[in-house]
Amino acid sequence: MAAPNPQLEVAIRRFGAQAGVTPAQEAQLRSAVMADVDRLQLLNAQATAGQLRGFTLEATAATLIGTYDKRGGVTSLPAASFTSTGVAASAELRAVVGIQAISIQFAHRTWQDAAGQRQAVSQNMVENLQAAFNGSPVLATQLKEAVLQAHVEHFGLLDGSMTAGATYDGSTLDGTPKGINLPPLALQTKTAANSRGKYDPRDMTFVLGHEIQHGFNDAAKDAATHRFLRDIAIQASARTTVHDYSDELRGYLGAGREDEAKAQIAGWNALLSRERQAAPDLGGLVLMLNTQSDRVLDFVQPDQRNPSGAIIKPGLTFNPDGSLSQTPANIAAMGQHYFDRPSPLYAQPGERPVALGEGRPGPSANYTNYYGTWAVERIFAAEDRANVSHRGARPQIAIDMAGLGLKEDLIEMEGLDLGADRRPRPYLDTSRTPAVPGHFHHTQDASMGHDHQHVPVIASERIRPSGDPLVDAWIDALQDGDDAGARIAQGALARSIEGPRPWGAGARAAPARGDGEEQAGEPRWRQGMPASGVGAGQELPGIDRAQPPIEPAQAMER
Ligand SMILES: [Zn+2]
Repeated sequence: MAAPNPQLEVAIRRFGAQAGVTPAQEAQLRSAVMADVDRLQLLNAQATAGQLRGFTLEATAATLIGTYDKRGGVTSLPAASFTSTGVAASAELRAVVGIQAISIQFAHRTWQDAAGQRQAVSQNMVENLQAAFNGSPVLATQLKEAVLQAHVEHFGLLDGSMTAGATYDGSTLDGTPKGINLPPLALQTKTAANSRGKYDPRDMTFVLGHEIQHGFNDAAKDAATHRFLRDIAIQASARTTVHDYSDELRGYLGAGREDEAKAQIAGWNALLSRERQAAPDLGGLVLMLNTQSDRVLDFVQPDQRNPSGAIIKPGLTFNPDGSLSQTPANIAAMGQHYFDRPSPLYAQPGERPVALGEGRPGPSANYTNYYGTWAVERIFAAEDRANVSHRGARPQIAIDMAGLGLKEDLIEMEGLDLGADRRPRPYLDTSRTPAVPGHFHHTQDASMGHDHQHVPVIASERIRPSGDPLVDAWIDALQDGDDAGARIAQGALARSIEGPRPWGAGARAAPARGDGEEQAGEPRWRQGMPASGVGAGQELPGIDRAQPPIEPAQAMER
């Protein structure tokens, strides 16, 4: 059985030799250190490197997760994490030791600043990270549970070029630890010597609550992603005239909406818990409005006529203390108020835009198009892989763009990667009747001349003949602006289509959305997709296991 190495053993014995520490407490610490093989390995390495030289028991200042002093290599542990008798570590102590292990690891990381220089994580950054957890009981409890369930296995830093509020690394093919990445400046206190520091304990608390929740959501999100990849592979292989991907996209985007909505609710609850410490009697909604945090505006708005009141966003039901439960109704409402916010390019007066992604010079995608860009890439990859010919032609791709909230321009500005075949891909936007032809262009790089730019369809650019006379009659009529002719051709086509998925069917149940899209301004932090979870022995035609598709990370608004 793995055991503490000599250096770690010295640190544990020193803990036991301190005044006020009982033999039971020393035994519990040893038990906690040995509770997880990977964690023990990490702690052993930290002890060997001199990063972990001792443990202390908190005396006067009681914290929730403990603290770490980088210079002395000493971590302090909350006395409340120990039990009065027994040698086995409580779950609480196991969680705290796990948190401290990844905090020590974080403390010795480096990051790249805006000038490209490597910088060491400072004691100030460590203290600010831990202070956020120690300031919010709900957040501390959430982290402890996430560490015990291995949803958070590291804290990392975003590169200087990244502009997200934070990202979460979920399941990966190679088993890279799951965890949270934070912007370095957001962990640094603004001082005369460091004017770029942006640490805001309230914002950090909200952001951490949001990102940790992604960990609890990860299994469900991962399953939805695999469902999407399986379903588009099946559709791409169907020998039909039209491949309508609206249902598959709706399922995938819906899973992203639910994931982000749950995360946002958790952020609210984490911040409320922090604010509650200083104001036990104030109403929760006003307490949150008093933080002046923009993130709160996804939930409530100030009531101009009543300074002590708050206007609740439609569909949300708060608990009497101001906390928000993860009920289906609250999750659905948060999806609308957070995930469905419009891109800055489409926001109407009074709407709060959100900007994420790789857009240039600044991010321009909202959540739907941030995640949707990757989904559209996967569809074309599945089409290429299946390479179906029906009646001598490639099937027409159909997408209910407006019903899904997708925008060709936002997707192209986000950077669309069409893979090996970078020619423009025609598709039919079925959200209008008659359907409108469009083209997706390769914009992920400059190889086709449109690096992260929208490519308007020029009048002379026509969809090439498909080889199917019915389809061609329809598309020609559309391209000629002959609405009446297009309707007639469309009717003939609809009657002729065989197979289980005639285009347009099933696309009408789209949630009502404004025409306005949202953009999110988060970097594309790409994750590897796991190959597992698809179903025992099930081989998916659309998934190339040698090159797993990389999904954008759950990124958060800055
Ligand atoms: Zn998120």
